[in-house]
Parts: sequence; structure tokens; C-alpha cells
Amino acid sequence: MTIHAWAAYGPKEPLKPFEYPLPPLGSHDVEIAISHCGICYSDLHLIDDDWGISRFPLVPGHEIIGTLTRKGPDVKNLRIGQKVGLGWQSDACADCEWCMKGEETLCSSKVRTCVDRHGGFADKMVVSSHFVQAIPDKMDAAIAAPLLCAGITVYTPFKTYGIQAPMSVAVIGIGGLGHLALQFAKAFGCEVTAISSSASKAAEARRLGADHFLSHDSLAEAKSRFDFVLSSAHADLDWSAILQTLRPKGRLCFVGLPKSPLQFPARLLVSGSRTVCGSGTGSRALLQEMLQFSLRHDIRPQVELFSMQDVNKAIQRLRSNQARYRLVLTN
Ligand SMILES: [Zn+2]
Ligand SMILES: [Zn+2]
Repeated sequence: MTIHAWAAYGPKEPLKPFEYPLPPLGSHDVEIAISHCGICYSDLHLIDDDWGISRFPLVPGHEIIGTLTRKGPDVKNLRIGQKVGLGWQSDACADCEWCMKGEETLCSSKVRTCVDRHGGFADKMVVSSHFVQAIPDKMDAAIAAPLLCAGITVYTPFKTYGIQAPMSVAVIGIGGLGHLALQFAKAFGCEVTAISSSASKAAEARRLGADHFLSHDSLAEAKSRFDFVLSSAHADLDWSAILQTLRPKGRLCFVGLPKSPLQFPARLLVSGSRTVCGSGTGSRALLQEMLQFSLRHDIRPQVELFSMQDVNKAIQRLRSNQARYRLVLTN
């Protein structure tokens, strides 16, 4: 038996068909028939080997939804035929201090989907069941897929830093991450401001939950306004101006990765006790909570669907910044 996938054979190359033998099903493993897989900006970074960690041929895809088709005898919590999902993390050691605290994203032995193993641009996969999530029956697969990376990435910092009503929150960037962050911020009851370079997105930002809209030119109007600024931007921005929009003890949190090293005077942190931090994905417990939270508050990624065969077309759309806002491949 063979898995039919799409892989990059070298950095920055278009994806081509790639086959590999179906791995044997271990006692804790499951086989997933993949129905949907989202494309994340991290997939592009891996295809381009921007982080120097890619191994080729590389099968991208870490927003995976499908049906559980087979399971090992020790898999108790999932059933055959169930709708399941897998995100950025595929496994962890289970024994280190971080795993014991339920913070397995920090495990130094973690297995990253599509870095340490083949990802979800494929017809199926065999994977340890430990990080496979049950997807709520009522949740559409195309909606669930982007929540497994984009959704959890912007949900986690709200939980980690206790961001809730009536705090004032700004989200920088209205894209794949930002359009979800606005919806979560609203659902948490915060006063929400969208910050974007394109004024044309003001109405869109309000539709997604923003109470206010700010362009980068008008940051001076927002001095000392926000408790929390979540940056999903990939662009280099005026971080000094952005830090000055924070209230005392405010926090600037990065989930997007600007190209250049950050530059700002340290006095902007010292005065007002401001903090700069970053946040990655989230634990299994938070993932499950985020899925339920999204159902309850009707939080939905806006998606464009492409068939798996059109994967290169979809990648081109993401590269050229045309995606509105998450792209999902279907089998
Ligand atoms: Zn991702
Ligand atoms: Zn561990």
C-alpha cells in the first residue's frame, strides 16, 4: 500500500507527486483518510527552507482533517469513522517537565508535522494518535482545518496572558491569522481595534469584530490605549510607534514573523513596564477548548477551497498575498 502525496523536492520548487509506502500501524497509531488540508504560511517557509530545518522531499500540510479509517489496539479515545484532525504537532515525549505540565508544545523532543515527518498534502497518513483531535460533528471540515494551526496560534496568547473583557486589544494585520484573532478578541469581550496598512480593509475589520480601525499612519492617535497588541504581520513595521500604543504593563505579542530583527529603544519597555513576547501553537487541551469555543461563538475562518491537484495554484495565491484568508485543499 502506498501514500500518494505532493512534495517539494528542493527549496522553492513547485510541488510534484510523491509516493511513499504506507507505514505499519503501531499499537497507538491511527490511519487517517485526509479529506481537507489547509495551507499555512509556515508551509511556504518550509518549502523555501527559510528556517534551515527542511528535509526534502518535503510533504507540507499541518491543518489536516479526515476520517479515521484504522487504529491500533491501544487507541481508546477515537473510533473508526470519526472526523479527526492533526495540527503542527504530531507527538511529544510525554515525560519531560513541559509534557508533565501539559505544555507539550515546549517539549524538546516534539514531533512537528511536515518537519519531522510527512505532512497532510496527501490522500492519507499514519500517525501516532496522541495528538490527533476529535473534531466536533457539527463543525464543517473546511472550517475546522485552519483552526488547527491559525486558530490555535491566535487563541493561545489570549489564554496564556489572561486577555479578556474589558481589556483593550489591537490586532495588527488582517490576514490568515489576523482575521481569526479579531473574531476571538470580540468573543472574549475585549474592546477590539484592527491595525492595517490598507484603509480599504476597515469595513472588513468591523465585520470580523473590530470596534475601531487604525492605519499605521495614525498610530500616534492611539498612544497608551491598548492592554494587548497581537501582531500577525509579516512586514517590518514601526515597532517604536506600536509599543507606544500600549498602556502601562501592556504587552506586544508576536505570532507573525517580520522579516528583519526588531528595532526599538529599550526605554519604551522600561517606562510603563511594557513587555514584548511571542507565542507559538497551543497544547492539545487548548486545541480542544478552542474548537468548542469556536463552535459556541460561531468563529469561522474565511476559506477558499482548491482541489489537492491544484496545490501549486493555491500556493501561488498565498505567495502573491491574494488569499482571503485561508486556503484549504480538498481530496
Ligand atoms: Zn501553520
Ligand atoms: Zn516532552
